[in-house]
Amino acid sequence: MSRREENDTTNPGVEELIEKIKNHTLSCDESVENAIDKIKKIDPKIKACISTPVVNGKDGILKGIPFAVKDNMEVIGTKTTCASKILENYVSPYTATAVQKVLDNGATLVAKTNMDEFAMGASTEYSAFFTTKNPLDLERVPGGSSGGSAAAVASGMVPFALGSDTGGSIRQPASFCGLVGYKPTYGLVSRYGLVAFASSLDQIGPITQNVRDAALIGEILFGMDPKDSTTVEKHLSLLKDIENPIKNFKFAVPKEFVKDLNSDVKRIFEGVIDRFKKMDVKVEEVSIPSLKYSVAVYYIIAPAEASSNLARYDGIRYGLSVDGKSIDEVYMRTKDEGFGREVKRRIMIGTFTLSATYYDAYFDKAQRTRAKIVNEMNKVFDSYDAIIGPTTPNVAFKIGQLSSPLEYYLQDIYTIPANLAGLPAISLPMGKIGGMPVGLQIMCKRFEDDKMLRIARNYEKVSQG
Ligand code: GLN
Repeated sequence: MSRREENDTTNPGVEELIEKIKNHTLSCDESVENAIDKIKKIDPKIKACISTPVVNGKDGILKGIPFAVKDNMEVIGTKTTCASKILENYVSPYTATAVQKVLDNGATLVAKTNMDEFAMGASTEYSAFFTTKNPLDLERVPGGSSGGSAAAVASGMVPFALGSDTGGSIRQPASFCGLVGYKPTYGLVSRYGLVAFASSLDQIGPITQNVRDAALIGEILFGMDPKDSTTVEKHLSLLKDIENPIKNFKFAVPKEFVKDLNSDVKRIFEGVIDRFKKMDVKVEEVSIPSLKYSVAVYYIIAPAEASSNLARYDGIRYGLSVDGKSIDEVYMRTKDEGFGREVKRRIMIGTFTLSATYYDAYFDKAQRTRAKIVNEMNKVFDSYDAIIGPTTPNVAFKIGQLSSPLEYYLQDIYTIPANLAGLPAISLPMGKIGGMPVGLQIMCKRFEDDKMLRIARNYEKVSQG
């Protein structure tokens, strides 16, 4: 057996690989080749990858660490399809800031991963190309929209991947695949080069095997970027205090999150609360009444922003172009052939709610309700260190099991509030139901990502016994 294969027994995390490379039990080249081989071997079964370009990074702490990127992030010279026919042959002319930062730290890109078309969905079933399988049960979805990234990590192709999260797309797949998914505070990570879905909600973050890796990669992604005016410079250190205890912390559990919880998820979540109590953390129920409007508000605001962001795919500037007798016909035929059903649905909903006649009744009301959700959530942080709850209402469902759009939209019930309020949020494994994992979600005040990672790490330590 070669040294490469010998090293390839489990799914090592980022820190573990760094250690092996440092100890010279694995070389940088071997580490990257392992990932490439593994993709060749298992991706035909999992279908996590849309393309497998190899892009070497510079020198840095991630030298020899392979990674994957969701196919809605630009990487110069690679195809960036957003899992859509409209961008099937589009080649990026530049690289997203977040990806560049990872490359600058030495990592090697080995795959661009599958997703729901334009990140609209919760299962990868809305990819225009194929559905990714959950590596833990091939009949089930890996979650979405960053399902390819989660599947690539869960199957051990790569130790980490980048995803994007507009309403839960990093955290929900992490929950479904037994991984850690971290959505940073809105504004910490540049969105430059992330194909825009809903710009006031979108945020890039890592999907990893464990909490320390999420902190390590998260920190690399941070930073003010002149190319994204919503970014801020914060100098947060996520790893510095991550091992510190959380004694005397106070957590809030929103009643609205546990009210209708499925009994298996509830039982597991109650176990989580007990564990925290044993760590001398106070856990109390609170009420955040406007949370019940989150899904409704999100499914007005996100499609509204999407409808204007997606107006650029007109068959003229880039991407697919379908011939027509007039310019209007080119627009129409391009969009008709290029966009899938869900994307069309969102564009239509967004155009409708932004129209002069309905703006007040829908968009304006949604914006005002969003402000209310933000205020109510922020108020909780005056008295509590974190808001906790399950990440998803259920474990990964079977491919083809859900039928109506509404069933998919309800998958995001617990993850959407963090996007609406720009809060940091993380999902980490809290237990299993019938062999399938489900995640614990922790949310903290804006820019308290360091505290949130510390809480997550403390939980991870006790749950691993
Ligand atoms: N499932 C949600 C949606 O379909 C969230 C997607 C995301 O976070 N990109 O919009």
